Amino acid sequence: MKVHIWGARGSLPAPGPHTVRYGGNTSCISISVDDGATLILDAGTGLAAMGLEAPEPPHTYYVLLSHPHWDHIQGLPFFAPLMCPGNQIVFLTEPAPDVGRQAMSQFDGIHFPLCRDDIQADIRVDGRSMDDVLSQRGLHVSWQEMNHTGTCFGFRIQGPRRSMVYMTDNELDAEHGGVPFGTFLEFCRGADVLVHDTQFLDEERAQRTGWGHSFLPDVCQLARDAQVGHLILFHHDFQRSDLEIDALHLAACEALGGDIACTAAFEGMTFEI
Ligand SMILES: [Zn+2]
Repeated sequence: MKVHIWGARGSLPAPGPHTVRYGGNTSCISISVDDGATLILDAGTGLAAMGLEAPEPPHTYYVLLSHPHWDHIQGLPFFAPLMCPGNQIVFLTEPAPDVGRQAMSQFDGIHFPLCRDDIQADIRVDGRSMDDVLSQRGLHVSWQEMNHTGTCFGFRIQGPRRSMVYMTDNELDAEHGGVPFGTFLEFCRGADVLVHDTQFLDEERAQRTGWGHSFLPDVCQLARDAQVGHLILFHHDFQRSDLEIDALHLAACEALGGDIACTAAFEGMTFEI
């Protein structure tokens, strides 16, 4: 199954000449499940670009939202498949029953000109076990609460060939959050791919501790301890330029010591699971 990164930026879209290589769209990843279905991880502004390349209806989109902060839902109103009769959009909300309604609350005629009744696709919120739902499509999914302001979840997805863990908006340092490092370690253990929030550098620790995002050395330690195969640096700070992300990536590679593949996420990046 093909995984495609449509947006890797955190907090705020970051267009401009200094962000062209990694991209400025906020969090959105798709997984092509089969001819009839796509799994979407977060609905940041990258979702708008994804919608422009969407298959013809009818098509089913399963949506897993880490949490409803703006940078994870703001692409939803501009997702073209919403306006196509025959499409089905299914929010899988097992760990957070309100998150589908919260994301759809943008369609109120105030924050966006269209209201929910204007949407042509069939929108559903499904609170059943997401593993039960997606296992019928050949995927196995589990979830873990993150350390972030409000309620936020990460997901572990087992594809036909490889596994990936998606953990964004997560502060690994347990001193400042409720979930201990060891819990994250078990959640990630042995994953082929770990996509993790690396918004902040070690030298930003004094100013950014408690903001709900991780510092690069902590993520590298998690990747090493959990023996993942490939670490993908994600949720780049909106003020971080391409050159600064290059430096962040280099620092990660040095910390990993060459034992683990490492890539800084960029728009258009694909891999298989
Ligand atoms: Zn975010």
